[in-house]
Amino acid sequence: MAAKQRPLDAETQAAELDSLYAEKPPLEIIEQAVKRDFAGEVAAVSSFGADSAVLLHMIATVDRSVPIVFLDTGKHFGETLDYRDALIADFGLTDLRIVTPEQAALDRDDPDGKLHLSDTEACCAIRKVEPMARGVEPFRAWFTGRKRFQATTRAALPAFEAVGSRIRINPLARWSAADLADYMRTNGLRENPLVAYGYLSIGCFPCTQPVKPGEDARSGRWAGQAKTECGIHLSGLDRSLNNSSI
Ligand code: SF4
Repeated sequence: MAAKQRPLDAETQAAELDSLYAEKPPLEIIEQAVKRDFAGEVAAVSSFGADSAVLLHMIATVDRSVPIVFLDTGKHFGETLDYRDALIADFGLTDLRIVTPEQAALDRDDPDGKLHLSDTEACCAIRKVEPMARGVEPFRAWFTGRKRFQATTRAALPAFEAVGSRIRINPLARWSAADLADYMRTNGLRENPLVAYGYLSIGCFPCTQPVKPGEDARSGRWAGQAKTECGIHLSGLDRSLNNSSI
């Protein structure tokens, strides 16, 4: 009898999937994950930001029941919350999961809601990283809408990456701003209304500014600080998942 194959560790699986699919069109990457490699075990994380409509529209084309995880930090623009609800309705997505910070952590570390003024790392840790770990914990894999062109720190973004024992999938990694604009236009997708005011990467309102022409799309996030990512895409999430008792 043939020996049973050991399951691949996440690093090996991510590298293997990347070599097989990274050059494929985004829709094909989504389809193979939803229908084959991670059937019933994959979600999408969306900020409902500047070009979130593209990934969500593709996912809805493949399967409208894929869970969509949204982190409600308590600091989003009202426009983003309205846009979230409008896109969910537009695309007929049936499983929106809203994850919020733990009330005990807010009471302990940010009772007046001003922690972002003194310590953005700590604020992101309780409002984004820990909730994100809870949001993706039930899944073996999740999609993000990250792209290489968004910032120099994302220039080498792969389509598949390991996060602890899970896989993060970036189907749009190779797409350009023009590709996204074409897709939005061709499919008649609605835009986050803040884009019209120069917000090209949209997060919490205290930490997001409009971007000047020619700047990185993400340069308006934590402008004036060394910080470029909130931590949900960095090793902080891996640590939070490992510490999770859920
Ligand atoms: S982006 Fe700003 S307001 Fe939002 S969680 Fe991070 S520090 Fe807090």
